[in-house]
Amino acid sequence: MSGNQTFTIIKPIAVKNNFTGPILKMINEAGFKIKAMKFTHLTKQQAMEFYSVHAGKYFYEELTSFMSSGPIVAAILEKDNAVADYRKLIGATDPAKAEEGTIRKLYAESMSHNAVHGSDSDENAAIESDFFFSKMERY
Ligand code: ADP
Ligand code: MG
Repeated sequence: MSGNQTFTIIKPIAVKNNFTGPILKMINEAGFKIKAMKFTHLTKQQAMEFYSVHAGKYFYEELTSFMSSGPIVAAILEKDNAVADYRKLIGATDPAKAEEGTIRKLYAESMSHNAVHGSDSDENAAIESDFFFSKMERY
């Protein structure tokens, strides 16, 4: 059975470009409820830990430098079938391949600067949510 929560990050470039509001609007209009949210700034070390699954890949250094380059918005989202539905809403990793109307199609600049993160499984949604939020920060 699929779970009802996923985890997202509005990445530094999208925050910098003032896309936080439009992206949160799309999230709400797609039926997701915000269970936790914070405006924060990862250190390089924290970005490396968050993306440790990609350690060793050729884009790991660029990815973790970028993700620690400015403030981000992290959030836990709730909806039936949350992980799959949110991946659908954000679109493909490469914005050139993202479907029309998806968050990445609208707001991404490139593969590395692709506006948002979305968990790829229920298990990773839980791990990623725990990375950012304590129990007391969830409502
Ligand atoms: P997704 O974010 O769609 O789950 P991945 O988990 O594969 O994608 O990759 C994590 C992030 O790393 C991507 O969102 C993107 O910012 C970056 N990334 C992935 N592949 C590449 C690549 N080939 N070149 C540059 N950046 C990449
Ligand atoms: Mg991923």
